[in-house]
Amino acid sequence: MRILVDIDGVCLDLCSAVLDVYNQEWKDSLKYENITKYDMSVLVHHACGRDVYGYFEGDNIYDKVNIIKGSLDGVIRLRGRGHEVVFVTSGLFPAKVRALQKRAFLLDMKGDYHYAKDVIVAHDKSMIRGDLLVDDKPENLIGHVGLLFDKPWNRESTLPRVYDWQGVLKKVEEMCPRTS
Ligand SMILES: [Mg+2]
Repeated sequence: MRILVDIDGVCLDLCSAVLDVYNQEWKDSLKYENITKYDMSVLVHHACGRDVYGYFEGDNIYDKVNIIKGSLDGVIRLRGRGHEVVFVTSGLFPAKVRALQKRAFLLDMKGDYHYAKDVIVAHDKSMIRGDLLVDDKPENLIGHVGLLFDKPWNRESTLPRVYDWQGVLKKVEEMCPRTS
């Protein structure tokens, strides 16, 4: 299968990195579990508001991100089972691709980020063809066979949900059982 995998919130824990910087700068104490809406600007200090998105765009933020538990191992296992893994993201940030390169998610590690063959940038993910999309934003799963990666900000959705990368591997196994 060709498996499309979202980057932020599925492979890289961008939210925690942003929260660290935001809390420090605004002397706030927002926690990961408090982020119950995709639009974080309504949850931060009202004087910060949409300025919080500036933290998402900083090139340096990807130096601070940790990988989501099990994600790299999960990607390696999917490839090992013969699946093609393609990362699909809606924002073009060189540092994001470099963060994936640095942590060995990408197959083609030699070239510059422009040439990363397994990364696609698309605001409308329904334009990209794949057999399965794993994403933490419900709207992105429209038009796809999708797995919603559980997050505090997507709990209202009733779409098929996985709680971790073990769940992703299990669902893929169900969809495409190994014959040997
Ligand atoms: Mg995401």
